[in-house]
Amino acid sequence: MRKRIVAGNWKMNKTAEEALTLVSEIDNMVKDEVNSDVTVLVAPPFPFLQSVGKLLQGNDKMHLAAQNVSEHDSGAYTGEVSAAMLKSVGVEYVIIGHSERRLYHHEDAQTLYKKMKATIANGMKPIFCCGESLEERDADRHFDFVGKQLHDSLSYLSNEEFDQVVIAYEPIWAIGTGRTASSQQAQEMHEYIREQISRMFDAEAAYNTSILYGGSCNPGNAKELFSQADVDGGLIGGASLKSRDFTDVIKSI
Ligand code: PEP
Repeated sequence: MRKRIVAGNWKMNKTAEEALTLVSEIDNMVKDEVNSDVTVLVAPPFPFLQSVGKLLQGNDKMHLAAQNVSEHDSGAYTGEVSAAMLKSVGVEYVIIGHSERRLYHHEDAQTLYKKMKATIANGMKPIFCCGESLEERDADRHFDFVGKQLHDSLSYLSNEEFDQVVIAYEPIWAIGTGRTASSQQAQEMHEYIREQISRMFDAEAAYNTSILYGGSCNPGNAKELFSQADVDGGLIGGASLKSRDFTDVIKSI
């Protein structure tokens, strides 16, 4: 049975002290207010992973995620962070293929595939991001576009490897724009993604894969989005930077 997950992507925000304050506040609110079996993830910037991870040690509700990983194992790759390094500080999930990384760092399908392999080989779960631009949607090419993103980075994984994967559908036009996909737009794309998984792997894999929605999800629209049959939670940017907002999104599931 697939997990319901709400993940906070902090992007390049917060200082070391602010990171600890935020995660402690979220932890307290989640303990007091969240009764469901939702898995909560926080993805702080690299320098804060270890301290935030220590704070979350033994916490069965909240888990640590990283925002990126190198496709290489080790060596002369200045500025990069390997999957083994992430694992060694308690990271359990890794966001891979976020549209900002695809756009600003030119990460292509093959690179993302290698990042997925490295993450899984080191005992962590990738959160693979996909999603179309406004141009693709306006031209009615959004299904084909997302289908190709999935196929190009995921279809070479084995069934056992794919069992570890979480998908996040994040239409680029909805990220950080305040413009969210309607619950119907989210549902139809999530259903399509599940169909593609069934084709690439099998029906069981499709049924068991958590598919998160991301893109201006907030306490005001989360309930409606999360109520859709194929929406298993959210990847949250802006609204994950304030403990009250993030907890309210988590409570919407
Ligand atoms: C994101 O970047 O993953 C995201 C969903 O951002 P926001 O919630 O701010 O749109």
